[in-house]
Amino acid sequence: MDKSTPRVVVIGAGPTGLTLALLLARAGISSTLVEKNARPQAHPAACILNTRTMEVFREIGVADLIMRQGQNVFERAYISWVTSLAGRELGRCSAMPEDLPSLLALSPVHAMQFPQNRLEPLLWQKVREYELIRFLPGRECVSVEQDGEAVHALLKGPEVERVSGDYLVACDGSSSPLRRAMDVKWEGRLLQDMIGVYFTADLTDLVAHRKGILYWIINPAAFGVLIAHWIPHEWVLFTPYFPPQQAPEDFTEKRCQALVAAAVGRQLADLRIKLIRPWAVSAKLASAYRRGRIFLAGDAAHSLPPTGGLGLNTGVQDAHNLAWKLALAGRGLSGPKLLDSYERERRPIAQTNIRHSAQNFDEMSDLLEVCGLNLNDLRRLQALQRSITFRVLPFAWQAALIDRLVSKALKKTALLAADDKRGKQARSEFIRRIPGQTRHYHFLGLDLGFIYQDGAVIAEAGRVPQPIDPIIDYQPTTWPGARLPHFWIRRDGVMLSIHDVIADDSMTLLVKPEARRAWLDAVQSVDSHGPLAVRCLVIGSGPDADCEDPQRAWTNFSGTDDSGAVLVRPDRHVAWRSRTLPRNPGEELDVALRQILDMHPSGV
Ligand SMILES: Cc1cc2nc3c(=O)[nH]c(=O)nc-3n(C[C@H](O)[C@H](O)[C@H](O)COP(=O)(O)OP(=O)(O)OC[C@H]3O[C@@H](n4cnc5c(N)ncnc54)[C@H](O)[C@@H]3O)c2cc1C
Repeated sequence: MDKSTPRVVVIGAGPTGLTLALLLARAGISSTLVEKNARPQAHPAACILNTRTMEVFREIGVADLIMRQGQNVFERAYISWVTSLAGRELGRCSAMPEDLPSLLALSPVHAMQFPQNRLEPLLWQKVREYELIRFLPGRECVSVEQDGEAVHALLKGPEVERVSGDYLVACDGSSSPLRRAMDVKWEGRLLQDMIGVYFTADLTDLVAHRKGILYWIINPAAFGVLIAHWIPHEWVLFTPYFPPQQAPEDFTEKRCQALVAAAVGRQLADLRIKLIRPWAVSAKLASAYRRGRIFLAGDAAHSLPPTGGLGLNTGVQDAHNLAWKLALAGRGLSGPKLLDSYERERRPIAQTNIRHSAQNFDEMSDLLEVCGLNLNDLRRLQALQRSITFRVLPFAWQAALIDRLVSKALKKTALLAADDKRGKQARSEFIRRIPGQTRHYHFLGLDLGFIYQDGAVIAEAGRVPQPIDPIIDYQPTTWPGARLPHFWIRRDGVMLSIHDVIADDSMTLLVKPEARRAWLDAVQSVDSHGPLAVRCLVIGSGPDADCEDPQRAWTNFSGTDDSGAVLVRPDRHVAWRSRTLPRNPGEELDVALRQILDMHPSGV
């Protein structure tokens, strides 16, 4: 193929595609980024950027801006349950771990709340700074084809254009036309259809004393969640609906004004409805992530329920995992299995995140059962809607029946606002059950602790280290496949995260001064005969150290003795480690590298 054409074609400039193009550019790889819309997302959509995502954003140079422009998450400590914002508060839980200093020590950044309608414009601006990214908004990819040499995409826009690359990554969202064209199955279930009403209104007096991210609204006229995207005035109310008998078009501006008033608990003089959009909340996973030169990433590969806040984050981390592999493969520095490892590593993580988010969704029933409402009752409506006996009824009857059944179910929630003894009992049982929701809001283990156990890593014998609760707790480790734990180092008088000195386009070997000579020799021998040049960094104290370790953190975290070494991939995950100095370090390193990159001495 013509090598002057861009190397990677990225379809879709949502958070996943934008991040991927930026990571590729940092690794020196050019891309064509195609987006059917002419402007970035107007809906706030996802708003939680977890710690790992913020680390990726730090690599692509946008974390500082987000930290400066974003809202302070530590001031927004609560998740609240209310009958309405102006009505009874049923309970609250903290969205923050108790030990904040320990949390902040785990990373150079921290989770942020930064909605997509602010994030995407910032990323659009960033991609425009790179010559290596050819950004084509307002172009829709209508077909793709691949041959042994390249992949080609046909774009419709101001004019029809064909773009080609060595690889194509479909980041085209959960309804991904490309996934369907690739004939990849979309496995899983629809949990609930939701209507999202994006509105502005100043709600300061109702939330200033309990600033939070989510306010669960439970009353017969408004049932759902109010997301505080930008306190005090930017909000989205999500509420369930049941298509096709209930349609998105039924949610007129007037009806949504009434819904918002019922959720807030009063009429709002300054209410402005900005957007009304349906969203199918589902737990679905693509059966494959790759077909030849075409890859799926982000929502195109997995659709997560929002009950976990992991959707956007899982997509950003797909991009992080794939970018360096495409960069090495594109340069001919790896065998085919390195690209296969993308699916082997990322699909199980998506599976875990989906399971967790779907479980959170199901467990919300525990709270609602105190007033006799089970979310499964609402879900059973979907089964009724599919049944033949129901579908033979005239459509108007069907719609009337669904409306009745929904309002009958939601009427049960009135008990939570009742002044009588039953109401009181229900409320005290509700509060008692709130701690059972903890894992919904505390998931540092899923955020930082995911470990790739099968892929571009050299597995170690023994049991993968795990904290008691792998969802809530994170245990720093250099076990192969784990994220390299962050710690502060000093280089040339400047404090940096260890993540800052890891190479973006190669492998980095971290060693201690005691075995410096042996590992430098090993790296030199690999550089001259091996598949890829390796950066060797000596972490410790004294004249032999490249990076000073003022808190002796590497001694704690390295998981090796003074003579061992840890090999880190460009995505800051550990690829291999040697706990002690092997008899022939050069050979061991060479064998490990060849296995990770799938580059064997006899050729690929
Ligand atoms: C209304 C709504 C509300 C949401 N709320 C939440 C929430 O509260 N919490 C949460 O965690 N998540 C939420 N999400 C999900 C979250 O937005 C996604 O997880 C996230 O955007 C995934 O990013 P992505 O880049 O993988 O896909 P997307 O953001 O879907 O981006 C895909 C991009 O591809 C483009 N595209 C599609 N087809 C083509 C084509 N043929 N050619 C060119 N471009 C194409 C699209 O225009 C889009 O820009 C919400 C989603 C929606 C729709």
